[in-house]
Amino acid sequence: MSAGAGQYSEALSAAARHAQEWLASLPDRHVGPRASVQELGDVFGGPLPRKGMPAADVVDYLALHADPGLMAIPSGRFFGWVMGGTLPAAMAADWLVSAWDQNSGMRHATPAIAAIEESAGHWLLQLLHLPGDADVGFVTGATMANFTAMAAARWRLMVDAGWNLDRDGLAGGPRIRCFVGQERHETIDLGLRYLGLGRPAEVPADAQGRLIPAELDRMLSAGSGPALVCLQAGNLHSGAFDPFADAIDVARRHGAWVHVDGAFGLWAAAVPELAHLVGGMELADSWGTDAHKTLNVPYDCGIAVVKDSNALRSAMGLQHTSYLIHDAEGPGDPFEKVPELSRRGRGVPVWAALRALGSDGVAAQVRGLADAASKIGSRLAAVDGIEVLNLVDYTQVSLAFGDDATTRAVTAKVIEDGKVWMSGSRWQGRDVLRVSVSNWSTDTDDVGTAVDAVSSAFAAVRAANS
Ligand SMILES: *Cc1c(COP(=O)(O)O)cnc(C)c1O
Repeated sequence: MSAGAGQYSEALSAAARHAQEWLASLPDRHVGPRASVQELGDVFGGPLPRKGMPAADVVDYLALHADPGLMAIPSGRFFGWVMGGTLPAAMAADWLVSAWDQNSGMRHATPAIAAIEESAGHWLLQLLHLPGDADVGFVTGATMANFTAMAAARWRLMVDAGWNLDRDGLAGGPRIRCFVGQERHETIDLGLRYLGLGRPAEVPADAQGRLIPAELDRMLSAGSGPALVCLQAGNLHSGAFDPFADAIDVARRHGAWVHVDGAFGLWAAAVPELAHLVGGMELADSWGTDAHKTLNVPYDCGIAVVKDSNALRSAMGLQHTSYLIHDAEGPGDPFEKVPELSRRGRGVPVWAALRALGSDGVAAQVRGLADAASKIGSRLAAVDGIEVLNLVDYTQVSLAFGDDATTRAVTAKVIEDGKVWMSGSRWQGRDVLRVSVSNWSTDTDDVGTAVDAVSSAFAAVRAANS
């Protein structure tokens, strides 16, 4: 072993040992964190010591002291927000990415990463039934995927309106009218803010939170000029999908660019039995999704897909930098498709996850999440006093327990008991306990644990109230 590698081996062995201890704790540990930031601030804080510490000791110190402050997000009993765990192949590949330390912006400099990511990109387009010649960029999450795609939209819409965006910026140019469903994820608004496009118009939604195409038509007809329409695959509370075929048809008649935020819902396209939920979504112009949610790779990994590669590369590429070695031919350099120049090879864990699962395995994983949600929903709906507020046809279940105060009390009790973790939220004017199934490892036992945890918390709250 070379001296160089030797210096890493103790620290890496310590990290591998601690990682396995952590993973082994997941089946039984209390899901929520047991220590506050303030308590942990004491062990990690204070002035930076003058003298250093050996690498392996640093790793030991981190593992020992962080443990009580960790949330068991990778556990099959975690149902909070929409997060996802990590597949073994993806986690191990992520370690390799750190060891390889490839700055992955240029094909010429890091051909292995470029080849792996380009292949992962093609596999994704096939799995999700998106146009095979679309550009794919690996970003940090769906927020950035949406931002990246909407930056391409902004470039195209302005240029088509006769405005030189690159030279003149936004000021004085035509205004882009932006339309979102009433129940879009708020990070869409954030992306529009990053882009200087202002606050979007909210298109009314139906009882499941789906944008209503006739309302979109009415609102688009009320004005004129360039327009961007953002649709959603996967509503946080109901799991619902906007009616893509109709909404895109409306948008096309008004010459709008259509973007789809499919952070966790785009993956329904990979499952034959669920594909009807996303019917027509392939007709959009751009799509944003996460790999760290439904696919279950480590943070942070999102994917931007844009059909108009000229628009994407104009929005994200560098135009005058001479020191980069630019790959003018073919699929283009990674840096032209994402906001970052220097970045890790974050598409590698995506390749590893897809290769480990195969297309059947991806479909089985996504179907498994939806099946677990459906079981949790139907078993809890059978409990007297529990209401399932949404149609459970994907991975989300929104529960209410009579009045808001009771729902909040049940949520607090579930979290305190620690057998599972779910978040409270508000949906369509009511407090809800939201169950989100997004971890590949959630199995029948975990489904049973979730049903028991919620029903016994409800029984305890009822007993205390009577
Ligand atoms: C999670 C989520 C986002 C934001 O994704 P990040 O990966 O957290 O940046 C956007 N839209 C929807 C529908 C989401 O579920």
